[in-house]
Amino acid sequence: MAKNIVVIGAGVAGLTTALLLSRKSGYKIVVAAKHMPGDYDIEYASPWAGANYMPVSITGTDAAEWDKNTWGPLEDLARNNPGAGVHFQDCEIHNRTKDVGSATAEWFKELLSSNPWFAKVVPNFRALPKEALGPGIDSATVFTSVCINTAIYLPWLVSQCLSNGVIFKRAIFDHILDATASGIHPNGNVDLVVNCTGLMASKLGGVQDTTVVPARGQIVIVRNDAGKMLDMSGTDDGDEEACYVMTRAAGGGTILGGSYQKGNWESQPDPNLAIRIMKRAVKMCPALTDGKGIEHLDIIRHGVGLRPVREGGTRIEKERIGGVLVVHNYGAGGAGYQSSYGCAQAAVDLIDQAWNVQAKL
Ligand code: FAD
Repeated sequence: MAKNIVVIGAGVAGLTTALLLSRKSGYKIVVAAKHMPGDYDIEYASPWAGANYMPVSITGTDAAEWDKNTWGPLEDLARNNPGAGVHFQDCEIHNRTKDVGSATAEWFKELLSSNPWFAKVVPNFRALPKEALGPGIDSATVFTSVCINTAIYLPWLVSQCLSNGVIFKRAIFDHILDATASGIHPNGNVDLVVNCTGLMASKLGGVQDTTVVPARGQIVIVRNDAGKMLDMSGTDDGDEEACYVMTRAAGGGTILGGSYQKGNWESQPDPNLAIRIMKRAVKMCPALTDGKGIEHLDIIRHGVGLRPVREGGTRIEKERIGGVLVVHNYGAGGAGYQSSYGCAQAAVDLIDQAWNVQAKL
């Protein structure tokens, strides 16, 4: 008999978990969420992401394993599935010696290394020659990465799930066990709940994980083309600010970032921060405006998203709450896309273990 599963959450974590589950026999899946692809809301991180593959996970950790296991599926989408809105793009990591010891440089430690674990995973990892570096840059690496147009990719995930029989519905749960109430799953009883509520796991009854906090990311989306992705080891504007640029696939515009403001829930863009973001981006990537100033940036929109950062990293665990089996997959911080397939597969493995369901061949 098929097992009835409710996945709470339609961000990249919930959708990827539902997709991998739906490729197996033995599960009847409902995705229930307050926000769905197409929505833009401060409680919904996924649409705001760049999103690219730029691992900051440390060698030997679960996080590095999840990132590693995600490269293959993303590479496959970029190579073989243009409808997913994922494309290859070179990613340059610029390193300033003066940032050593700063919070950003600590967070980026592995990324800034000349020999990170992912050098053997992504194609074409290499150091840039000194003469290719801009003023103030002491070293740089470059590799082939992917950039995901989230406005295409999230609906694509939904459509893949729908094709595999997944049911989608809007619902707001005060308590995780509300997902087992009658009327949520068409088959009646619910055998297992998958918790992919991101930052809001901090408020969801039965979970209330207060170790999940927002890391506020402000962005500017412009029509200008950067031609590549760039990221800097730090800024001269404090540890809560960041500098990165990436051009999304299929006309998705270029994302200029950003910030990493921990504990800050503010949903409205800060205009002063927006100016700093644009100035830093144009300085790091003069190709954006042919060497001209920020008045030559053609702004599509300003945005703010909250990364669901969890002390101790993403929670992928099995738990029994009020007698109901729950598998958690939340708290991916700034890595929800680049770890999506690895995390979802780890969650699916836990679900399979509950009933020893064999993969459909
Ligand atoms: P969310 O997308 O927040 O989804 C949560 C879901 O749960 C929503 O559907 C919500 O409605 C639902 N939900 C929550 N509570 C309830 C409830 N009580 N009842 C019903 N439904 C509920 N990651 C990368 O890998 N690469 C990047 O380049 C990148 N760049 C980023 C840039 C910015 C500016 C930001 C903000 C994030 C970035 N990230 C990036 C991080 C990435 O966006 C997140 O890690 C990821 O989106 C988290 O996805 P999620 O599915 O866990 O949560």
